[in-house]
Amino acid sequence: MEKLTYEKPYIKKLHAGVMNKFGTRTGIQPVKQIDGVSVKKLIEGYGSPVFVLSEKQIRKNYRSAYRAFSTRYPKVQFAWSYKTNYLNAVCQIFHQEGSWAEVVSGSEYQKALGNGVPGNKIIFNGPGKSKEELKIAVDNNSLIHIDHFEELNQLLTLSKELVNKPRVAIRVNMDTGVYPSWDRFGFNYENNEAWTALEKIVTSGKLQLVGLHCHIGTYMLSTAAYGIAANTLCDLAMRCNTLLNHKIEYLDMGGGFPSTNTLKGAYLPGADTVPTVDDFAEIITSTLLNFGFAQEDLPLLILESGRVLIDDAGYLLGTVIANKRLNNGKRATIMDFGVNILFTSFWYEHQISPAQDFNPHNENMIIYGPLCMNIDVIRESINLPLLNTGDHVVVHKVGAYNMTQWMQFITLRPAVVLIDEQQRTHLIRTNETLHYTEEPEVMPAHLRPSK
Ligand SMILES: *Cc1c(COP(=O)(O)O)cnc(C)c1O
Repeated sequence: MEKLTYEKPYIKKLHAGVMNKFGTRTGIQPVKQIDGVSVKKLIEGYGSPVFVLSEKQIRKNYRSAYRAFSTRYPKVQFAWSYKTNYLNAVCQIFHQEGSWAEVVSGSEYQKALGNGVPGNKIIFNGPGKSKEELKIAVDNNSLIHIDHFEELNQLLTLSKELVNKPRVAIRVNMDTGVYPSWDRFGFNYENNEAWTALEKIVTSGKLQLVGLHCHIGTYMLSTAAYGIAANTLCDLAMRCNTLLNHKIEYLDMGGGFPSTNTLKGAYLPGADTVPTVDDFAEIITSTLLNFGFAQEDLPLLILESGRVLIDDAGYLLGTVIANKRLNNGKRATIMDFGVNILFTSFWYEHQISPAQDFNPHNENMIIYGPLCMNIDVIRESINLPLLNTGDHVVVHKVGAYNMTQWMQFITLRPAVVLIDEQQRTHLIRTNETLHYTEEPEVMPAHLRPSK
């Protein structure tokens, strides 16, 4: 038998914590493999920490979301939100499944082209498009979702010198009953700016108004808000038809559906409380179907879901560096991954599982990252078995926004591995090197180290 590690005894006042409905047991299970691939082998092969993505789970998420909408509504199209995770391998999985691309910057736009997405299947969102970027988008017949009057005027000016008639939509914001409302993006419905913009586009004759767009928030817990948003877009589309004699081809409801992660401070786990994609699909499609469009005039319904399609397909594997006892008696465990690569730890209580068998004693502890910065806290409070230096852990549901919002700060960014449906592993982004981070730097001659 392996020798047990010595754990120094200590005395701690017991606090009778709140019981949850399962009592005080934590029910923690070791997670030794992902999609049949050993966690230990993944770390041996690709280093620690390492991000792992499950192709099987991504495809499963996409298909079930598509099914939720397409079984309820005749014309449905998804567009992958690049900023949620724009590793090209990830984007290609969504494109293979039939997704268009939804981009919010010139560089994301170029990425979509590089991934072979036809221009007319790229949706260009966001408040910061440059004149040059708009020109390229018009030349490629992309769908430009206008954010403000300056952009609208710029497109009207550009339309004089360009061959293609720009295909545009406007982004609309409205009071959905969820606050703070995202009224900084697009044209407001209640103060009539949305209608003014529509009228200006249609009567100009220079732009082709093809759609209406909204994206009302992210990690939205209210299905009713989507009912209000869908109703608002339908109302504008219908008025466009009756008052301006112009048919709107599509309504784009944006993204924002929550993943099953648990928000910080939430009383119950996200998996038990968030509405499902079916719940959102039901209210959106029933609003569209019941609004009064003639069957042949039903607009195409576009969804730009990000988070819900990829969060639970992503894992972060890491290793325990050390343990310590804080002044207040609390146990602290230091991991080899910090908030610089796990941005979402600022607002999710990520589930962390040990990756090997453990002894049954567990304790409430704080999980720190390796950064020499006070903010580097992965979990302020989590019940886990005692982990030893060198033990591995699996952080769950990290597929959305981490591999795009991660920062090269103090430590270099780790490798990303994709496990395909045949349980083969593929390196889809190598770990960063010092050379990579220093490459864009330029040293003035007078500061060069003398040889
Ligand atoms: C970020 C974003 C999305 C994706 O949002 P999720 O909350 O990840 O679903 C969709 N559309 C627009 C315009 C966005 O900015």
